[in-house]
Amino acid sequence: MAQHTPGKPLPEISDLTRPFWAAAKNRKLVMQKCKHCGTLNFYPKPWCIECGDRGLEWVEVKPRGTIYSHTVAHTVMMNFPAWKDDLPVVLCIIELDDGPRMYGQLTGCPPEKVHIGMQVEAYFEDISEEAAIPKFRPA
Ligand SMILES: [Zn+2]
Repeated sequence: MAQHTPGKPLPEISDLTRPFWAAAKNRKLVMQKCKHCGTLNFYPKPWCIECGDRGLEWVEVKPRGTIYSHTVAHTVMMNFPAWKDDLPVVLCIIELDDGPRMYGQLTGCPPEKVHIGMQVEAYFEDISEEAAIPKFRPA
């Protein structure tokens, strides 16, 4: 796995996921949409999660949502020491306003203030020449 800073892994970008990372680099959140039934897929897959159709197109979704669930990491695994400076790390499942749920890190909010139903918005942090990662902050 490639590294952008020592101890922090980069995503493995494939033909399937490249549009997501490239859009994030352009400060846009995109997901696959089924041309047959309209379902939004996340994470990227070769087929629709609802009907199995392989006719998918990338569409922009609103970078806003609410916290569906969250946890706070107070320690780091030994193989990712660079996260130590970020502790505590708030990890969330975000239910986007457009429907899909995605994982994300919440920043800009003390861990004790995070709550389910909290409104958040995405922002994008560059991690390489070809990708940025969506993170979330209070809206
Ligand atoms: Zn479908």
